[in-house]
Amino acid sequence: MNSDIKIAALAKLLEEKTITRRRDFHRHPETGWTEFRTASIVIETLIELGYDVKFGNDVIDEANMMGVPSTEILEENMARAIAQGANPDLVAKMTGGKTGVIGTMKFAKPGPTVALRFDMDCNDVFEATNENHRPAKEGFASINPGCMHACGHDGHTSAGLAIAEILSVLKGQLAGTIKFIFQPAEEGVRGAKAMLAKGAVDDVDFFLAAHLMMPKVGYLAYDVQGFLATSKFDATFIGVPAHAGAAPEVGKNSLLAAATAAINLQAIPRHSDGISRVNVGVLNAGTGRNVIPANAVIKVETRGATSKINEYIYECAEKIIKGSAAMYDNKVTISQMGGAASGSNSPKLTETIGNIAARIGIFNQYEALSNIGGSEDSSYFMEKVQKNGGQAAYMVIGASLTAVNHNLYFDFDEHALTLESQLIATIASDLLTK
Ligand SMILES: [Zn+2]
Ligand SMILES: [Zn+2]
Repeated sequence: MNSDIKIAALAKLLEEKTITRRRDFHRHPETGWTEFRTASIVIETLIELGYDVKFGNDVIDEANMMGVPSTEILEENMARAIAQGANPDLVAKMTGGKTGVIGTMKFAKPGPTVALRFDMDCNDVFEATNENHRPAKEGFASINPGCMHACGHDGHTSAGLAIAEILSVLKGQLAGTIKFIFQPAEEGVRGAKAMLAKGAVDDVDFFLAAHLMMPKVGYLAYDVQGFLATSKFDATFIGVPAHAGAAPEVGKNSLLAAATAAINLQAIPRHSDGISRVNVGVLNAGTGRNVIPANAVIKVETRGATSKINEYIYECAEKIIKGSAAMYDNKVTISQMGGAASGSNSPKLTETIGNIAARIGIFNQYEALSNIGGSEDSSYFMEKVQKNGGQAAYMVIGASLTAVNHNLYFDFDEHALTLESQLIATIASDLLTK
């Protein structure tokens, strides 16, 4: 109980600093794999707090990075981040977009390993510039055109740093190890897999992640069930161009190959074990009216109630795409652009969180939340921890949003950050107290 009061006081004490930090991140938003400035601030802050910090190649597996921007865009953003105050030495070590950070603190007494995960990336959105939008009115709107923190990850990152500070103050009384995972590229579910592949959660006994959402400040959902497993991929068809009037038989038609794939993807038999989804969201093909189209791309996503169902849909989709390419004598390549596992909270950890929420009394409404319906790539971490015999939980924290996620008028009540910091620091401290 004593530490409950201490944590509450520390969260309150850090409130102003956390809001200032959130506004700084909000003003300098960075999309997936370009979080050079954000990550360099995270690295410096964690080092200052006494954490053992790893980043770049040590925490990101290049082969598992999905949906990475071009080298040109990455380099532009490295220069932009440095111009906006990022430490150039740190940025250089994140070349290629390796912007993940892990801060670890081992306490004197032995105990479990608790991992907390926070995402850092922004959205591809032009932020509202008029007075009705508080960040614009109060001067902390995005200065990076086409980039906006419209999903609250600026809040997640700053709350993560507040929690890191709270737990560093309490280190004398804690047992085990605390691990802060600051993940790039959550949008499009692209980043977690590369950190997972480097063993981010291999040694983790308890895993926690959270998202700020629409309900009013004071709301907490702590029994999240039913993240859908998903895969996002592009299929690129390459044929042979030819004169559509003079020699159509010489051409190999990529537009027809892609269109055949798009239609037949909808014909994948549904799976009796649970819900599944497939969508072709984009089809681009061809160069001119009188040319047999020799290039086409489709952007596809699949989802499933379980990772197994999603794999089934994905495997069927792959066969259909390859078969469609073969029908028109096209070459086809499939590039993975994102992915997430299915996921649900571990019952025991959920119960622990419910009890803590009741005990600290800062939430006036807390409840289970089943069938969240969307996808989140922290599910990769959850799945791995649970497979290893550990426990994992995802929470939804009310933040009185001013608009839906990914909207240009998105903003939230920053008091939610204090509640988030206090709650997660208390849960971690409980798990790390022997
Ligand atoms: Zn989002
Ligand atoms: Zn988000």
